[in-house]
Amino acid sequence: MENNNPKKICILGSTGSIGTQALEVIAAHPDLFEAYVLTAGRNADLLIAQARAFQPSAVVIADKTQYAKVSEALDDLPIQVYAGEDALQQVCQMDPVDVVLTALVGFAGLRPTIAAVKAGKTIALANKETLVVAGELVTRLCLENRVAVLPVDSEHSAIFQSLMGEDDNAIEKIILTASGGPFRTFSLEQMQTVTAAQALRHPNWDMGAKITIDSATMMNKGFEVIEARWLFDVPAERIQVVVHPQSILHSAVEFEDGAVVGQMGMPDMKIPIQLALSYPKRLKSDFPRVDWYKLSQMTFEAPDLERFPCLAQAYRAIRMGGGAPCVLNAANEVVNLAFRQERCRFLQMADIVAECLTRMPAVKEPSLEDYLALDAETRKLATSLL
Ligand code: NDP
Repeated sequence: MENNNPKKICILGSTGSIGTQALEVIAAHPDLFEAYVLTAGRNADLLIAQARAFQPSAVVIADKTQYAKVSEALDDLPIQVYAGEDALQQVCQMDPVDVVLTALVGFAGLRPTIAAVKAGKTIALANKETLVVAGELVTRLCLENRVAVLPVDSEHSAIFQSLMGEDDNAIEKIILTASGGPFRTFSLEQMQTVTAAQALRHPNWDMGAKITIDSATMMNKGFEVIEARWLFDVPAERIQVVVHPQSILHSAVEFEDGAVVGQMGMPDMKIPIQLALSYPKRLKSDFPRVDWYKLSQMTFEAPDLERFPCLAQAYRAIRMGGGAPCVLNAANEVVNLAFRQERCRFLQMADIVAECLTRMPAVKEPSLEDYLALDAETRKLATSLL
């Protein structure tokens, strides 16, 4: 019998760019989706407003100092209020939750995602850092627990959509498109002096601050190669990054007969968010459509690893394997924040990441404890190099 109850969604990071857009999707389809749990890092005011609007069963504010504020503000409602990062792991295991949307940023996503996987919840994955850090471990746990991971990242959603109905057909290669970010046409010399304010002006996408900087350095594309490697079980050598500044082709798959199947659309994250929640159905929407007469051109070019050394470091970490991608991520989180706070120059970010990859010891087949230790040690090293 078909279950007509709305899917109960736990949004980890409901106050962020992906989280707020997911709530817009949920609000548009109250018959299909219910915001069952909402969680925030520090933005208590927005979490309170969201909780009053969506009336979830539970909310979590990761920053414990804000617990009293959130709890008092929601006192008149039957909403459980929790605080602290450990609570994130508990709420995504709650029995009624059907889907956990991992829309929080950075390494903080790893433990809650693992908890959700172990509880058998379907994962709508936005938090790419989880697969960058611990792709091997998380993929194994998903297989053991028969958990489906539905990609939210637009490129991975495009690859996923290109593979629909192709179960028996081998992938020859994945074509992972990249906008090239705000500095695509800058010379190395110009990049010496770019500021965070410039880097935060992405030409095509309106995203959270961390991923916007990662897009400007193209570290984001390196992360996406790692994410695609684990999601689709295709080695990195067969994932080709192609710069496509118009961001209309969101990625594609080339099959063994030479046919290329891709997914196109306007650069609007609500499309992949909605599909991850509604899969396998597509829902009618009023999201912007491509105007084919106005779209004068679609261009493609190779990425320049010299001007975008972070992408080169991501490839290096992939080749190193083991704990290296975890080191890559931790060092990047430190320099990304430092750049936003004007404590690090744009090109210095790649130098520090490279130094951390060189200096951190190799760890083969890391356990969760190994990842936690590597992350903490790398952060110390990267901070000392600033
Ligand atoms: P934002 O910075 O906009 O939002 C991050 C969310 O995570 C906020 O709700 C924030 O809470 C919360 N958060 C931050 N740190 C912690 C923590 N330590 N513990 C608990 N919660 C925390 O990020 P985005 O929405 O842009 O990105 C989220 C994820 O999705 C990232 O992994 C990103 O790479 C990925 N992604 C994003 C895309 C986009 O278009 N934005 C596209 C593709 C992938 P608060 O604000 O309350 O502090």
